[in-house]
Amino acid sequence: MTNSTLKTPAQDAKHTPMMQQYLRLKAENPDILLFYRMGDFYELFYDDAKKASQLLDISLTKRGQSAGEPIPMAGVPFHSVEGYLAKLVQLGESVAICEQIGDPATSKGPVERKVVRIVTPGTVTDEALLPERIDNLIAAIYEHEGKFGYATLDVTSGRFQLSEPETEEAMAAELQRTSPKELLFPEDFVSVQLMESRKGNRRRPVWEFESDTARQQLNQQFGTKDLTGFGVENALRGLCAAGCLIQYVKDTQRTALPHIRSLTYDRQDDSVILDASTRRNLEITQNLSGGNDNTLASILDYCATPMGSRMLKRWLHQPMRSRPELNQRLDSIEEMIASGTFADLQPILKQVGDIERILARLALRSARPRDLARLRFALHQLPDLSVTMKSLTQPHLKALAQDCLPVDNVCEILESAIIDNPPVVIRDGGVIAPGYNTELDEWRDLASGATEYLEKLEIEERERHGIDTLKVGYNNVHGFYIQVSRGQSHLVPPHYIRRQTLKNAERYIIPELKEHEDKVLNSKSKALALEKQLWEQLFDQLLPELERLQKLAEALSQLDVLQTLAERADALQYCRPELTEEPGIEINAGRHPVVEQVLDEPFISNPISLNPDRRMLIITGPNMGGKSTYMRQTALITLLAHIGSYVPADFARIGSVDRIFTRIGASDDLASGRSTFMVEMTETANILHNATERSLVLMDEIGRGTSTYDGLSLAWASAEWLASQIGALTLFATHYFELTELPGLLPNLVNVHLDAIEHGEDIAFMHSVQDGAANKSYGLAVAGLAGVPKAVINNARKKLSQLEHQSGREELPTGKEPTKTDRTEQQLSLIPVQSNVELALEQIEPDNLTPRQALEELYRLKHLLQS
Ligand code: ADP
Repeated sequence: MTNSTLKTPAQDAKHTPMMQQYLRLKAENPDILLFYRMGDFYELFYDDAKKASQLLDISLTKRGQSAGEPIPMAGVPFHSVEGYLAKLVQLGESVAICEQIGDPATSKGPVERKVVRIVTPGTVTDEALLPERIDNLIAAIYEHEGKFGYATLDVTSGRFQLSEPETEEAMAAELQRTSPKELLFPEDFVSVQLMESRKGNRRRPVWEFESDTARQQLNQQFGTKDLTGFGVENALRGLCAAGCLIQYVKDTQRTALPHIRSLTYDRQDDSVILDASTRRNLEITQNLSGGNDNTLASILDYCATPMGSRMLKRWLHQPMRSRPELNQRLDSIEEMIASGTFADLQPILKQVGDIERILARLALRSARPRDLARLRFALHQLPDLSVTMKSLTQPHLKALAQDCLPVDNVCEILESAIIDNPPVVIRDGGVIAPGYNTELDEWRDLASGATEYLEKLEIEERERHGIDTLKVGYNNVHGFYIQVSRGQSHLVPPHYIRRQTLKNAERYIIPELKEHEDKVLNSKSKALALEKQLWEQLFDQLLPELERLQKLAEALSQLDVLQTLAERADALQYCRPELTEEPGIEINAGRHPVVEQVLDEPFISNPISLNPDRRMLIITGPNMGGKSTYMRQTALITLLAHIGSYVPADFARIGSVDRIFTRIGASDDLASGRSTFMVEMTETANILHNATERSLVLMDEIGRGTSTYDGLSLAWASAEWLASQIGALTLFATHYFELTELPGLLPNLVNVHLDAIEHGEDIAFMHSVQDGAANKSYGLAVAGLAGVPKAVINNARKKLSQLEHQSGREELPTGKEPTKTDRTEQQLSLIPVQSNVELALEQIEPDNLTPRQALEELYRLKHLLQS
């Protein structure tokens, strides 16, 4: 809506009464689409209509005139509104739903209308609008003196967290990890680049981020006096974000949020930190092209429930460092595998479904009849679950089993209250089970009309008037009637009023029957009203049990993740990693969890050993040799160990890691206008600044995007810095052979290589990691493999031998460490040799020369140049 359509009251008077009502409601929701209910449609007007017609591909029409101008209008039928809402929410749009709340029959002027809820991308809870297996978060961000406060809320589970990233880079990583569907930020926010190319950003007034308001709002939400109990009292920046967030959510939901009852501080020290590019590069839940195939999650996620799937992804994105907790998970998985319990749990959990989100709808009082029927069905599975888990002995599993004990009181309420297969919505009734409420049963009996009264009336009338074809009946259009066959219609008494004529019969109504009809219709609406009331009461009865049920959902999700990890470990032959406090990574026969699954050929497993005496591996070998795969598999195994999962290897001992860094692959970040080289250097800078000796660093082919000498020097210096200044556990893959000298110059560095065999014009990659440096790069062979024309390859071969001749470099036999002479030769090739002229120039001291001597020197230089 443009400002021109938001008229002043005086201008407002020119509008029709209905448009006045519309404009008033629209003024309260200026920035979002307003769906204005009119009969069977939700209508949009003015700019909203234009926008919606584009976004939803619906036609833009005009409606009459108001204030002398036609009104642009677009609409969607109310029964299919969910599909449209889903589309808008996907696009990051919010919608205010405005319903008729007055009674059209008794209204003077337009029926009273009210915005009953606001659907926003980050706060939706409707089943139809949410992706099942992905968390849907809303977040708020706050900045103070270059540091950040960040709060996230999952409305569908009540998980409410805050963190305080200290740098923009850490903030970007948090945004990437949580990827909120909606992000609230203050009007005066400075680091707007964080918001670029994101959907669902919402500017909020600065005062909503005030710390006093925040505290007050949060205390009110949790029913607390202060926030000390949550350990967030001193998280000032985080609280400012959390305060704005809770206000916004309350405002959009327009109801209490009893399932949000705590706020936790997300401490970075407790987790293995992954920055934004590492998350992307390791393809944890999203592959590099933005899809979900061939990701770590796609291999592991065999969860039986959507809530388990969401939890698994949270785990994968937030690996942790607490060994006791990780070992608890590992112990649980071990027992599940040994006892085979995972196979029994899977079918039971499948029946349980997504109770986490059902509970959120229950808390928001927006649950539908089928939600409660599904909750009941889920609860019915708990006795079986208890039996299956009875023999498990691990303390962690026993604790989970305890949380999954049957919840009989809730089960009983749901069994007695809801019929077996309830309709989708409560609107038309038929949800509350018979026998639940006597008054309802009576109204329903009356309403169904199947009372003795009708039978009695039929017999009496038949006898009184001697019409043996007389019958009393009912249909939806005409209501109750007395039917007499055409042949006997002359016998009907005068007070019979004709209602309908059929081919062989006439239908009549009499005052007595009409009275009965009114009573029936009346009881129908009485029954419906009572049913709605009982439905609401049902929420009141269930809400006190909410906390316990949420605990149940949490335990079931965990069981689901653990059974999945056990099943995967068993099926894919993973091993239990041994977790140690000392830094170091020892893996025997490690595999890449994703590549091994998508490959048609067998995967070649490889060992790795990184420890304080062997901190950096310089990895060389041909393109396509498997360098990236080897590096990534090491990172993924380390990550899996830090979520408490088994890992694809025969043996793994993994020391505690504080961060995983990756500088992999070349990709232009076109969206932010940065070249490949710029991206590469930004990522490298981040690593060199932030890595510690406890970090795992993957550097793949750095220095590619610039000239050879630039690139080589940067790669050299970065490797040297990582090795000597930081001492991080590093895998450094490079195509600069010169770097294979580093192990000879610095302690704790080792050369390894991946090999290939050339066979005539063919090349076979061995994919197995060997000690020592590679002897050649096979670049031409790989180019041939890729289909570069033979003639070009032949010319390249000639050029190569010419270049090699010039630089005096020859290739070494496989695996052989370069000798000192090789090294000097290669280093010579590295440093540009100074010419005679340059040497001579260097020795000249102009201040000590007479003009004549200067001229002579000039002649000498000229001569040197010519010779
Ligand atoms: P590089 O980084 O050396 O260019 P990659 O790691 O990208 O090579 O590997 C290239 C391809 O080789 C992979 O896509 C995969 O198909 C195959 N490959 C890599 N490592 C292995 C392995 N250990 N076993 C079997 N195939 C592998």
